[in-house]
Amino acid sequence: MKQTGDLALVKKMNTAIVLDAVLRYAPLSRAQISERTGLNKATVSSLVQDLIEHHLVIDIGPGESSGGRKPNLLQFRARTGFAVGIDLGVNYIRGILTDLEGVVLAERRLTLTAHDAAYVLPRLLDCIASLQAEIPPCPYGTVGVGIGVPGLVNEEGAILYAPNLDWTDVPLRAIVEERFGVPVTIDNEANAGAQGEQRYGAGRGVANQIYVSAGIGIGTGMILNKELYKGAGGFSGELGHLSIRADGKPCRCGNRGCWELYASENALLEQAAALGYRDLDGLLEAAGRGEAGVLRLFERIGEALGVGIANIVNVFNPDVVIVGNELRRAEAWLGEAMQRTVAERALAHHRRRLRVLFAEQGEKSAVRGAAYYAISAFLSKMKGSGV
Ligand SMILES: [Zn+2]
Repeated sequence: MKQTGDLALVKKMNTAIVLDAVLRYAPLSRAQISERTGLNKATVSSLVQDLIEHHLVIDIGPGESSGGRKPNLLQFRARTGFAVGIDLGVNYIRGILTDLEGVVLAERRLTLTAHDAAYVLPRLLDCIASLQAEIPPCPYGTVGVGIGVPGLVNEEGAILYAPNLDWTDVPLRAIVEERFGVPVTIDNEANAGAQGEQRYGAGRGVANQIYVSAGIGIGTGMILNKELYKGAGGFSGELGHLSIRADGKPCRCGNRGCWELYASENALLEQAAALGYRDLDGLLEAAGRGEAGVLRLFERIGEALGVGIANIVNVFNPDVVIVGNELRRAEAWLGEAMQRTVAERALAHHRRRLRVLFAEQGEKSAVRGAAYYAISAFLSKMKGSGV
């Protein structure tokens, strides 16, 4: 026999297995956990007792039985702690408070009229504080804060570059952790949106999912084999800068003919100016009235979206591509042109299992994904601690 280091490790692993079983299959009995996990009943009972003492699992009493004594059932305590999710947009902040199953208990949305960090950061911190103030008495309080941002984020949670906010090198994680004293996760909004849809939306149960955040620019979040793919430096997903026209318009990234110059909300609004429209709301209304110029414009944008998606499909062979962020609101007007273009351009074998969908969580894909970062970080910590 080896010594306690190994025993502690075994306990951690077994605790993680038992907690996972409760998270996935609850309500269930100790005997059912034993059956599902292959751990013996005495080990399960002891680990369950630890989880109960740490307020993560609750014994809800006897369940139904097909005969004989009814076994007590166990449930995950989703309200033992709460997560805050924030979606920092270019001109808004959206915030939610969720329990540990991601159920939304409170929401905030405020409009930003300036971009500089000195204006935005105090509002961001106030938004978190006001959500935190709604947490009922519970064992863990705030388990963490997750924030999706429109820019490149490094492993320390600093925003290296957010072009549409005009921010460089803002150590956001450090700022929020210092203020609230809880773990903070910062990620790109497209990655957060991908997580939100994977966990709670159109990507549930899908192994290979590409989320296209079609807003002012285009970003993508890639879930491959159920894991968010982040790349060597955490900067993957800039498919908005995929060149779709070799000699196209110059882009602020230094390249030419980038996808987002033709298929984003910005591209839509640029071309809408000639028709006398300034915002997406006005365009959606005009399309609803059947205004021919506006309908043609949406069709062009839909085709441009389809061109980029066809490239993505050929590279990644995903099960699902999900279009989210602002342009998802135009599904009725650009969806058909987008689907047709993908069907015309993507390789046949790649299309066989492919579905191209619009985000189910609507404007909340990113904020729910951000909250999920905080929840999953907390649960990993609890599993890793062997409680
Ligand atoms: Zn570019």
